[in-house]
Amino acid sequence: MADAEVGDDVLDGDPTVRRLEARACELLGKERALFFPTGTMANQTALWLLARRGTEILLDGASHIMDWEHAAAAALVGVQVRPVALRPGRRVIDAAAVADTASVHATRASLVCVENTHNGAGGVLTSASELDAIADVARAHRLPMHLDGARLWNAAVATGASEARLAASSTTVMVSFSKGLGAPVGAVLAGPAAAMADAVAVRRRLGGGMRQSGVLAAAALHGLTHHRERLAEDHANAQALARAIDGAGGARAVTPETNIVMIDLPQPTATSVLDRARALGVLLSFWTPTRVRAVTHLDVDAAGVRRAADAIARALEAEHASAA
Ligand SMILES: *Cc1c(COP(=O)(O)O)cnc(C)c1O
Repeated sequence: MADAEVGDDVLDGDPTVRRLEARACELLGKERALFFPTGTMANQTALWLLARRGTEILLDGASHIMDWEHAAAAALVGVQVRPVALRPGRRVIDAAAVADTASVHATRASLVCVENTHNGAGGVLTSASELDAIADVARAHRLPMHLDGARLWNAAVATGASEARLAASSTTVMVSFSKGLGAPVGAVLAGPAAAMADAVAVRRRLGGGMRQSGVLAAAALHGLTHHRERLAEDHANAQALARAIDGAGGARAVTPETNIVMIDLPQPTATSVLDRARALGVLLSFWTPTRVRAVTHLDVDAAGVRRAADAIARALEAEHASAA
């Protein structure tokens, strides 16, 4: 980052940002890619470009756009969010569910959004063929598709399909550099040149025009070069973590597909479990009163994950003992 060649990305371009955008185009198989300070801004820019004011966007009811972007779709873009009802036994939306939702509502939709991997569901994968099937349904209703791929890198490593393959059926795709890849901030929105034509103006309007942003792009490039393949270690660590804590204090660890382990508690004691784990040096996230989330990442190696598993198991057992 300190050595990054920089320019002015608001004026006439920053050379390191241009390198990052070119690399993102290659990896994602899209014509145009644009660097953003956050994934949230990149998602909202996609909505601005693809959705129409006064219509609905169809999305997963537990997606980042729904749960974590502070109603930006309504406040900034003027669209209504329509959660797609999950089919029984499913943890994420699929083509059949999108087809059902797309055909029953009177309000017009203008966009379908998909998240892969799906954070709220627990790092759950959608396969390339299922993404294609969802896009087919979208196309039948004349809707473009936006892929929130903050963790698309994890999906690629876990499925063996390239990022470009996974993004092929989506009009636009957002990828994040600040999750598994370990950069401090940053995301890219990529898509066909026609769809992306106004993206620079929208980014500027949202306050995302950054000047000597090459220092940030350099960190993202480092993550792309050095931290993509190693995501498999995070996935193996998540498997080991789930095996080690499953059953402790009556809790169940959901078998992870990638780097997120959801832990279901026998009682609504999530806040207390978080406190106990924190006191033992492990940070977990609150998900629901009966569910907490653990994430494996590049700062914690296999030995560290074993220590974390011991601490979490102790926290779960102490909670169980105090409830008895
Ligand atoms: C983190 C995340 C985002 C937003 O990225 P920020 O850079 O934190 O704004 C969007 N979608 C998903 C699925 C995420 O996990």
